[in-house]
Amino acid sequence: SAGTAAAAARPAPAPAAPVMLNFNECPLGPSPAAQEAVRAILPSSGRYQFGLRGELAAEFAAQNALPVDHVAVHAGSSDPLDRAALAFTSPRRAVVVPDPTFDAVADTAAAHGAPVHRIPLRADGSHDVRAMAAADPQAGLLYVCNPNNPTGSVTAHGDIAWLLANKPAGSVLLVDEAYIHYADAPSMLDQVRAGGELVVLRTFSKLYGMAGLRLGLALGRPDLLARLAAFGSNPLPVTALAAGLASLREPALVPARKRENAAVRDETIAWLAARGYPCLPSQANCFMVDVRGDGAAFARALAAEGVVVGRSWPVWPQRVRVTVGTREEMARFRDAFAQVAAAGAT
Ligand code: PLP
Repeated sequence: SAGTAAAAARPAPAPAAPVMLNFNECPLGPSPAAQEAVRAILPSSGRYQFGLRGELAAEFAAQNALPVDHVAVHAGSSDPLDRAALAFTSPRRAVVVPDPTFDAVADTAAAHGAPVHRIPLRADGSHDVRAMAAADPQAGLLYVCNPNNPTGSVTAHGDIAWLLANKPAGSVLLVDEAYIHYADAPSMLDQVRAGGELVVLRTFSKLYGMAGLRLGLALGRPDLLARLAAFGSNPLPVTALAAGLASLREPALVPARKRENAAVRDETIAWLAARGYPCLPSQANCFMVDVRGDGAAFARALAAEGVVVGRSWPVWPQRVRVTVGTREEMARFRDAFAQVAAAGAT
């Protein structure tokens, strides 16, 4: 009939784009000033512009009361994480990590034959620093992630300082602060200033919204940074450096994004708790929710509803990591979660 033909001629309604809550990215992307800086530098990006790297290091150093030779600039923090695994572990020098955590250091160390000791988080989500210190007298590297991915849980400054003071002789402490901008937890940069045997990592991939632009920092004594630099030096994208500089020079950016993320996160966690789905306390832009059933199946069911969340970790098969999106995205998350829970998908 004519009606059917007319219906067939109409394109099917476009399905709404899925909500991506799976990689702990910032849903806002680079700040407007950072995006403008990228546009402004693009015509001259045919040049290496080696000086920009030093300019970014000097800006961060000045803002954080660090000597500039304590700042190394990388294309994200995955790169220095891998370098640390290569520099400080070996088949005879283990890596000690919390469990669950961001897997990069353990994966790279294991791929090169290093033993990996996984130390369960404590019930409150903090690192068990005493068990980490005692895990292996031959450890070469101890990894602390604060706030931790995937939980968003924090470990007290005093506990991390205790680990630094009590780690095995000859080992290095690596403190990954990818999510520190979202948290009220203090940074370990004070211990870097004090000359400690640690490297602190920062990234522009999270709060600064630059995951696809690639910029990160390794902060530590020059002798420790030299161990990372020994694996080679790669010139950095000038777009990332320009966006990073613009972001650092925008003092309102961190508090504004931190406040908004915390409000949306805490509202979502409270909504889940009221329905009987508990989360560990989070100070990051992600949280782990106990779905009271198979986490992987629950995540697949959410994806079928157009909401893509993170994964489960082997230690906690009933918990799923969720990234905090915008208010609108989290409203869609709640709708999808309610649907899946009501359908008894697990
Ligand atoms: N460290 C932690 C704890 C992370 O969660 C991530 C990414 O998810 C990274 C490091 C690596 O991020 P990037 O290489 O984009 O800085």
